[in-house]
Amino acid sequence: MNEFELIQNYFNWPLSDSSIELGAGDDAAIFNLDSGYQLVTSTDTLSEGVHFFKDDSPEDIAYKSLAVNLSDIAAMGATAKYFTLAITLPILDEIWLEQFSESLKETSEKYHVSLIGGDTTRGPLNITITMMGVVEKSKAIKRSGARNGDNIYVSGEIGDAALCLKKINEGQKPHKAELIKLNRPIPRLELGSALKGLASSCIDISDGLKQDLSHIIKASEVGAMIDIKDIPLSQSMIEHIKENDDWSLPLCGGDDYELCFTAPENFNSEIINIAEFCKIKITKIGVISDSKELEIKGYDGQGESYQHF
Ligand SMILES: [Mg+2]
Repeated sequence: MNEFELIQNYFNWPLSDSSIELGAGDDAAIFNLDSGYQLVTSTDTLSEGVHFFKDDSPEDIAYKSLAVNLSDIAAMGATAKYFTLAITLPILDEIWLEQFSESLKETSEKYHVSLIGGDTTRGPLNITITMMGVVEKSKAIKRSGARNGDNIYVSGEIGDAALCLKKINEGQKPHKAELIKLNRPIPRLELGSALKGLASSCIDISDGLKQDLSHIIKASEVGAMIDIKDIPLSQSMIEHIKENDDWSLPLCGGDDYELCFTAPENFNSEIINIAEFCKIKITKIGVISDSKELEIKGYDGQGESYQHF
């Protein structure tokens, strides 16, 4: 099988988005943007041994590669539309490719995103996806809009992905529900989109709440005060903290892909309505201050957020 057959066999399925004038197969893809909209784009790479284990299932790897990229588009309040895939494979394993491609197709259909091109090469397993989305002009939610007095919120529960990873690294067997949190994070696209016009800033929690909230306060030139007692936790995380007196997982553990956002207090009731509408737990964890520092009440500073280098 050569490169063209590989693409033809595994990464070429009919597209249903009428805005695509030309998908994969030419030198580049062409799509039409509605007037009044801006293109929003983001790239994330998943590498074997760094972002996933060698024996993780191809289905989970495909799902997560898409989900983490969708999560960045969600954090901007945009609608995800198209993506490209650059995949580096150590060998041509047709069973692996079949499973990977099936999961990628299924996930892309679930989130209404179209594969419009890509590249394949040989080397250590590596998946790079570039996701493109659209948003009404000037409506994207940036990191830089948080203001003194805004409330700080997070979606879902924080730290479970890191707890699962910790268990695997320590040779324990995580429960199925815990593995789902690590391998199948849900991109909060509906929530991100609903927050447009309400949230003053937003980020997805990929590297840990402490670090990702720090990105917001730095970009917005403000400070933040949060209380560890307010961070929403799962039952397993509550037990872990009780046993170990260790808050490093919810504060520094990455890979949750929940949204952390800020909004003025007068939008609080609308945010409660959005939580109900999107069927997602949203919790207020603190307020934006003018101190330029991140103060975390009840936390002794243990643990380090994920560092890429
Ligand atoms: Mg992000």
